[in-house]
Amino acid sequence: MPLSPVLTVVVPMYDEQEVLPLFVERLRPLAESWGVPYEVLCVDDGSTDATPVLLQRLRREWPQLRVVRLRANSGHQAAISAGLSLARGDYVVTIDADLQDPPETIGEMLRVARAEGVDVVYGVREDRSSDTAFKRLTARAFYRSIRALSDVDARVDAGDFRLMSRATVEAVNALPESNRVLRLVVPALGFPSASVGYRRAPRAAGESKYPLTKMIRLSVDAVTGFSIAPLRFATWLGLLGGLAALVVLVYALVAMLLGNTLPGWTSTVVIVAAVGAVQLLALGILGEYVGRTYSALQARPAYFVAHDSLEQDAARGDEERPLPRPAASGQTRT
Ligand code: UDP
Ligand code: MG
Repeated sequence: MPLSPVLTVVVPMYDEQEVLPLFVERLRPLAESWGVPYEVLCVDDGSTDATPVLLQRLRREWPQLRVVRLRANSGHQAAISAGLSLARGDYVVTIDADLQDPPETIGEMLRVARAEGVDVVYGVREDRSSDTAFKRLTARAFYRSIRALSDVDARVDAGDFRLMSRATVEAVNALPESNRVLRLVVPALGFPSASVGYRRAPRAAGESKYPLTKMIRLSVDAVTGFSIAPLRFATWLGLLGGLAALVVLVYALVAMLLGNTLPGWTSTVVIVAAVGAVQLLALGILGEYVGRTYSALQARPAYFVAHDSLEQDAARGDEERPLPRPAASGQTRT
């Protein structure tokens, strides 16, 4: 019976047959040098190439390699979520399979987490020069707008390469929402954190599994998951419309008084402008309530308990420190 792992490395994989052998070749010697029991949990996200076959073959030679296969391609974030819920380690690192995130950094993350006693260690991309200009531009727009729209203090350029403590992983697992954007969910928890910088390398082999459509879906999940700002849009339009209607009203009245209008024009214009404004405003108010219902439905816990002295006492043993006994009610005072 192998020791239960201290570190779990979660690796989402979708059609990664080209890069998988390179990844394992580079990760394994590093893993042996961490000096702790570990497991490498590969989440095969419904690959249709040779990835599952390769994984089964590799598993025979590497007992610490654990393979979980999802029934259908569910996406990067879902694959990581699956890995998080099955990981057994006291610490969990999530890393891409394509060697863009250097596995060498994992050891450093573990060291930082233990030395500083933090719950999360973010891998922060210090150099993205290996990414395409388009990727860098869209990524920048993504992080900027998320920071502006939501009140999550997500670190700029911290992707999904990070280490999390058991407490963090349990907290994430407890969230009821299914389309989690982990790079926002984790900082939103606000647990003590540190970060280590790394250079983002080019993909070692194969092609990106993140076409524009998936990038857009991630952004929509991020915005709608963390902000009801889009719903407020109608309110602002309504208020603007209301102002415009007032201006139109004044203009129409002046035009009527000056006598250069057709009969009926003034009332028509004013009604159209006013009704439009009122409708938008009503829509905005509706949106506000829909937004609140949505937040309630997400049911994000408001807090996570770090310590409970009662549990610590219980762990120390009851006979050592007996609970103070209330005086028996029948006792007589002499
Ligand atoms: N991935 C996944 N499911 C998907 C798409 C991607 O598990 O539907 C994995 C992929 O195998 C890789 C990681 O997510 O390990 C990041 O994907 P990729 O490198 O293609 O994204 P990029 O770096 O181009 O943004
Ligand atoms: Mg990649």
